Amino acid sequence: MAKEAQGESSRPVNWAGNIRYTAEHVHRPASPDALRTLVAGSRQVRVLGSGHTFNRLADTDTTRGALVSLAGLPHVTEVDTAARTVRVGGGVRYAELAAHVHRHGLALAAMASLPHISVAGAVATGSHGSGDTTPPLSAAVREVELVTADGSPAVVRRGEPDFAAAVVSLGALGVVTALTLDLEPAYEVESHVFDGFPMADLDTDGAVAAVTGSASSVSLFTDWRTPRWTQVWLKRRCDGPEVRFPWSAPVTEQRHPVLGRAGANCTAQGGLPGPWHERLPHFRPQFTPSSGAELQSEYLVPRTEARPALAALAEAGQTVAAALQVCEVRTVAGDDQWLSPAYGRDSLAVHFTWTPELPLAGEAVAAVEEALAPFAARPHWGKVFTVSHRWLRDVHPRLTDFARVASRWDAGGKFRNDFLRTVLEG
Ligand SMILES: Cc1cc2nc3c(=O)[nH]c(=O)nc-3n(C[C@H](O)[C@H](O)[C@H](O)COP(=O)(O)OP(=O)(O)OC[C@H]3O[C@@H](n4cnc5c(N)ncnc54)[C@H](O)[C@@H]3O)c2cc1C
Repeated sequence: MAKEAQGESSRPVNWAGNIRYTAEHVHRPASPDALRTLVAGSRQVRVLGSGHTFNRLADTDTTRGALVSLAGLPHVTEVDTAARTVRVGGGVRYAELAAHVHRHGLALAAMASLPHISVAGAVATGSHGSGDTTPPLSAAVREVELVTADGSPAVVRRGEPDFAAAVVSLGALGVVTALTLDLEPAYEVESHVFDGFPMADLDTDGAVAAVTGSASSVSLFTDWRTPRWTQVWLKRRCDGPEVRFPWSAPVTEQRHPVLGRAGANCTAQGGLPGPWHERLPHFRPQFTPSSGAELQSEYLVPRTEARPALAALAEAGQTVAAALQVCEVRTVAGDDQWLSPAYGRDSLAVHFTWTPELPLAGEAVAAVEEALAPFAARPHWGKVFTVSHRWLRDVHPRLTDFARVASRWDAGGKFRNDFLRTVLEG
């Protein structure tokens, strides 16, 4: 949850500390009835998940807007072992969900790099893990339960007309009180870390595909200071094929994505098999994920554009490197959520962990956006980006359809904030 900042202001801040929310405090309704009454009686409502977003997506426009956390509601995680589904409450985080599901001998197909984030918040922004055939986390959702603008409940199920707008929703349709997710039998995963190799080795589309397909989840890291991948993390489902990685040598010590940092806050590596939820995320739930003092950006381009997009980033290398802690490249399978950054296309996701120094990071973000402009890059909704409404309309073919559905659900704009108006309306 967002830290309640001390000192000059007691207004809540996000996980990274770069956003001080406009609301003076966070409402924490303790019951579904209290939530419905709060929504019905508020002029503006934005839900705060676990606050791991790096922009003003979750913010209210004024101090009178209600910033609402669902963390005080009963934590629902109801597993249906026969149907292989779980109904999870809108305030629950992946760490809690995953451990619960695993105790029932079941699993999620994918996780992001950290289990600290709320399920509803991650799904709302199209968050993803890695894998050529692994779509974003939102692909597991089969049912969304919401509290709508007048405080009444609603359900949208997979196959219904509004479903393609209701999952990756940016919180624009209503308060998500529960999600029902698909599960599969529990499986084990091994994490193997390899030394880096020259980027020039990825000189054909086939070479790129061979690397990204060398395990069920692949992460390539670089600092863009030299034309090298600094390290490669491969996660192999133990019920799948063996890892084949001839490009560099495996390492034996526990690593962090940023070379030189202690790997103790990372999940076990070295090829040691373990439960899916203790390997798929990079970071352990009981430690600070990533570096903690950082900003993040990420852009998804069509996988067919992987080589030219990476070449364009190499051109911008020095400006990017000056603000960079680490860059991580993953693949994501296409999906059918209208606002998903992977909508309708298998994607290459290029993530940047920046130093928190704003002028430097700002210049680097501008350089990345300029480099990736020819490749119809879609920014991660939860990270730092500056692209215009026009850019977003061009790269998201269903953006206008999404805005229309959101307006039908929320005619008075109760769930819309300045950030959403800028991206959806211009
Ligand atoms: C260290 C770190 C690592 C990360 N790694 C990854 C990664 O591997 N892959 C990836 O794709 N992303 C990653 N992210 C980004 C992260 O997944 C997204 O920002 C995600 O949206 C965070 O969820 P949250 O609940 O913390 O966000 P919040 O900022 O709290 O919420 C995000 C959005 O969801 C809405 N929302 C939240 N809960 C509800 C609800 N119940 N009903 C309606 N709307 C709701 C909010 O209003 C807001 O619009 C990472 C972030 C950090 C800080």
